[in-house]
Amino acid sequence: MTKPQLNIPLRACPFCGSKNVTVNYHNYSKTDWWVFCLDCDGSGPIDLGESGACETWNTRPLEAQLLEALRGMCTVYELWDTTPPDYFIGAYNKAQAAIAAAEGATPPPPGEDVPMGE
Ligand SMILES: [Zn+2]
Repeated sequence: MTKPQLNIPLRACPFCGSKNVTVNYHNYSKTDWWVFCLDCDGSGPIDLGESGACETWNTRPLEAQLLEALRGMCTVYELWDTTPPDYFIGAYNKAQAAIAAAEGATPPPPGEDVPMGE
């Protein structure tokens, strides 16, 4: 058995943000797999199989809930029928930057406004 075999893309470490993560298995069992971070030693739970360990590592339920909430907030702002207050625009831009960062895109530079819906 060689390791790892599936080449499943892994998300960045939830503890330190590093992309220097890998999947491995215990030599004594060859069935207990887990993903760990080479920079902070953070690790995911042990799973019976490489695919399960990678899927568990890549699953972030709280992050998914927060992104859904941010997208909902942005939709409300985009439907605003008058010019929203500046603090709303600032919150909107921060939410868009967080969504972009979570999706792997480059967020806009600080201070650069993202156009809101008409
Ligand atoms: Zn880490």
